[in-house]
Amino acid sequence: MHHSDLPPGEKWRQFELYALGIREFAGVRPTEPLNPFRLAKFANLLVLDFERIEGLTEQTRRHLLGDASGSWSGGAASRPLPDGRRIVILNPTHAPMRSNATLMEEISHVFLGHQPSRLKIEAKDHRGRSISRDYRKADEEAAYATGAAALVPYAALRKFVLAGQTSLEIARHFRVSRELVEYRIKVTRLWPIYRSAH
Ligand SMILES: [Zn+2]
Repeated sequence: MHHSDLPPGEKWRQFELYALGIREFAGVRPTEPLNPFRLAKFANLLVLDFERIEGLTEQTRRHLLGDASGSWSGGAASRPLPDGRRIVILNPTHAPMRSNATLMEEISHVFLGHQPSRLKIEAKDHRGRSISRDYRKADEEAAYATGAAALVPYAALRKFVLAGQTSLEIARHFRVSRELVEYRIKVTRLWPIYRSAH
């Protein structure tokens, strides 16, 4: 691997190396988009359709897909199935590009060996409030950053930025949102180059 294949900064270099490991496992070429739906089963995740969740009242269903649809992107169930798989539900009202990033984060948690800190519904803070967090904060950052790097790897991103492509063009290529591409351009410190070209 060339030195220029890794972004500056120790932390970001580490996330990139994890991400490259995931891409290598998936067998995708350096500039090829990664499809997290094909990786999910290797991470022991079962992606279920929202429509297949039973036991939701019509009111809850309408709430989750209506008023509240902007406030959740999806996630994995804390408790595994008897066969060890964990269920992931994705918000069906979100664009596929956004679901790719959500699912990739869940896959990264598994590949990075993160343990859910506690079951969501059982977690209470000292005031007795429910804590709706599955993983520790550092693990959340690592999973999100690694997932984003797996979807938009640095070497290819750098190549496209130097070739003068816009974040929208790069986003379409990798099947992710433009926001995710701009996040990657910023954290890998390619932003000054990108800005000077657009
Ligand atoms: Zn997470």
